Amino acid sequence: MQYDPNNIFAKILRGEIPCHKIYEDQHTLAFMDVMPQVEGHCLVIPKHPSRNLLDADPIALAHLMTTVQKIATAAKKALNADGIQIRQYNEEAGGQTVFHLHVHILPMKIGMPMKKHTGKMADNALLAKQAQIITALVK
Ligand code: AMP
Repeated sequence: MQYDPNNIFAKILRGEIPCHKIYEDQHTLAFMDVMPQVEGHCLVIPKHPSRNLLDADPIALAHLMTTVQKIATAAKKALNADGIQIRQYNEEAGGQTVFHLHVHILPMKIGMPMKKHTGKMADNALLAKQAQIITALVK
């Protein structure tokens, strides 16, 4: 399957639609998931286009994982989490819904249930605040 440059994350990268940005460098962008499954649910995407892990450039993947580590560390501190879950889906059968490679970062607390994907948007002000707190802790 071909990469579709009109996917929503490509539009975010081009600045055509907004996001609650946490971090950006030459190769990657991190922002808040608008329908978080846990508090502080973030996404990291490469700037290099690929549908998912399967067609990704290996160098772009290395940059992506470097940023995932950076953001996971900051998000764990920001949310006072006990751990971090990393999720990444490939193609529709693999659970993927947005076809630009992305990694989910989920700050987890012991005993805390994960919300289902309800499709409900989180409060914008809360997402903006969380993005700000995580950004301040990125090293
Ligand atoms: P998946 O492709 O299944 O890994 O999930 C895509 C994720 O992107 C979901 O968790 C959505 O909540 C999230 N999402 C969809 N649109 C946006 C958006 N405009 N900004 C931030 N997150 C989004």
